[in-house]
Amino acid sequence: MSVAVTAGDEALTEAARRIAAEFAAPNADDVDRNARFPREAVEAMREAGVLSSLVPTALGGGGASVAAAAEACFELGRSCGASAMVLAMHQIQIGCMVNHLDGSAWFEDYLREVVAEQRLVASITSEVGTGGDLGKSVAAVSEPADGQASFEKQAPTVSYGEYADAFLTTVRRAPDADGGDQVLVLTKREQMEMEPQGTWDPLGMRGTCSPGFVARASFPTEQILSTPFAQISNESMTPLSHVLWSHVWLGIATDAFDRARAFVRAAAKRKPGEPLPAAIRLSELMSELSLLRAEVSLALEEYGTLISSDRAKLSEMATILRFNNLKIAASEQAPVVCQGAMAVGGIVAYKNDTPFSVGRHLRDSMSACLMVANERIHKTDASLLLIAKEV
Ligand SMILES: Cc1cc2nc3c(=O)[nH]c(=O)nc-3n(C[C@H](O)[C@H](O)[C@H](O)COP(=O)(O)OP(=O)(O)OC[C@H]3O[C@@H](n4cnc5c(N)ncnc54)[C@H](O)[C@@H]3O)c2cc1C
Repeated sequence: MSVAVTAGDEALTEAARRIAAEFAAPNADDVDRNARFPREAVEAMREAGVLSSLVPTALGGGGASVAAAAEACFELGRSCGASAMVLAMHQIQIGCMVNHLDGSAWFEDYLREVVAEQRLVASITSEVGTGGDLGKSVAAVSEPADGQASFEKQAPTVSYGEYADAFLTTVRRAPDADGGDQVLVLTKREQMEMEPQGTWDPLGMRGTCSPGFVARASFPTEQILSTPFAQISNESMTPLSHVLWSHVWLGIATDAFDRARAFVRAAAKRKPGEPLPAAIRLSELMSELSLLRAEVSLALEEYGTLISSDRAKLSEMATILRFNNLKIAASEQAPVVCQGAMAVGGIVAYKNDTPFSVGRHLRDSMSACLMVANERIHKTDASLLLIAKEV
């Protein structure tokens, strides 16, 4: 992939490739084995200014495009799925703030702070009681008093919750608001009490360090984005999440494919001229990877065009269906490619300690269908398909 068009894009993609090679890849197995935060890669992102790459240049940021952010997620995904997912989730939060600033001086100042201090921002959307239903909250903003408000949210999964500097949280607009009448609130760690709940010892994406927390916050009301969350979700959070996550999964699948290819090439070198059944399987696997690549890059192109020139279209049913389908397709196809890579390599791919191992890839990619359960998305799509004029 190569999408760099501006200086900010070039700086981001160059930094992502370097960090992937120098910090993410060498630590990926240790991060996975010990379910530990990928601190080397994230520290390197801070030093290179990657955490503010999506902040506009007018606010001192890198001014990079969504395409460059996606490429960075892809490159890191090829080295360490957890590091890539941390970057993707951070960029989604920054993208939501940048797209929905609406002239807020507080949010502009906060984005300047992200630039100066390389703040890492996490997401609290899932909730005990609503699960992965992004469009509903139980927790609510309290009645403001002297411009101050608060909330308490039972969050079952908060990636890098222990390491983030700030959190973007969905809550109901007021104590008497409907579940779907939500706002997004940015709170800094020092305004919060994060009470850990349970542990994080999952099958894959172990380095995202995503246990539950009870999140309690007290904050000035100017830290609530003025745009209703439903609009932020349609225009930014949902499509951007699906675009960036799918680039992470494509990166993971691409590395699994590369390992299978390295296995076949090594076998061909050992027995030149002899028939090699694994080579045929590799070719079959390449067509599976091509399907994933095509879906992911087309969706990126579409989102880049719509967010810059036709935002309202992102709330149309056909577009919502389109980006929901990206998530479903990519989350199902990435594990298919990883499993195929295991079949090509056989036992040396199954073992955890060979250059052809793809166990981590397979486990990481299996988290994809849970990151907002595909069944939930199918339910939304099924309703939309009944009423949408065109799809
Ligand atoms: C690696 C990883 C990192 C994550 N990081 C974060 C984070 O930083 N912040 C955050 O907020 N969340 C995060 N999540 C949570 C995630 O995005 C989902 O919200 C969460 O996994 C949903 O939890 P659940 O599967 O128990 O709940 P549910 O979504 O309630 O699903 C439970 C089960 O019910 C089924 N189900 C639910 N609704 C329906 C329906 N309508 N029709 C049919 N079946 C249905 C589902 O398929 C599933 O089998 C993360 C998840 C993962 C895997």
